[in-house]
Amino acid sequence: MSDRVQRVSAIQKESLSMPEDKKLLRMNREDLRHLEDAISTCRLCPLWQGRTLAVPGAGPAPARMMLVGEAPGREEDLSGKPFVGRGGRLLDRALQQAGLDRSEIFITSVIKCRPPNNRKPLKKETTSCLPYLEAQIKIVRPKVVCLLGNTAAAAVLGRQGIQALRGRIWQERFAVTYHPAAVLRNKNLMADFVSDLERLNSLQDK
Ligand code: SF4
Repeated sequence: MSDRVQRVSAIQKESLSMPEDKKLLRMNREDLRHLEDAISTCRLCPLWQGRTLAVPGAGPAPARMMLVGEAPGREEDLSGKPFVGRGGRLLDRALQQAGLDRSEIFITSVIKCRPPNNRKPLKKETTSCLPYLEAQIKIVRPKVVCLLGNTAAAAVLGRQGIQALRGRIWQERFAVTYHPAAVLRNKNLMADFVSDLERLNSLQDK
């Protein structure tokens, strides 16, 4: 028997004796890995031409909460990780103040490759990339999905206007708040940003 066949059959045997919740966990991780591979080599829209690394997202699966931003910026493009630049550091502070642990949240964005000069994603880019986010939501099965900013709200809910969208739950699991970059530009928004995250923290435990 070849090495590969032996490995597969060992995994199958282990899987048969595994409790259902552990099997589900393994399936989730494998599904996410396949999706990450597809995203990393994706050429469905022209943004692949300018990327250093695609940024599929990071976090546990399943996870009770998911955060969805707009698109990778420069530092995310270089590292392949979501929200690691100035906006990411502000997000970390806000999560901490809201009593949330980043390591328990799945964090991603609508667009997985950096748009040139951090411009807003085009409609056709969003349309090409959105199925990846939809697949991530199916795999991660979050109780609450927090859409950060107008681009994420428009892509997922078809609605814009943060002030009007905040404070409500849409389609049973989606909430909308500011994008960390908007909070960086206007520090007065920080208190509302933290209070939105606090509210979602209490919802995810219900
Ligand atoms: S932005 Fe999305 S659709 Fe476009 S190339 Fe990257 S992964 Fe593919």
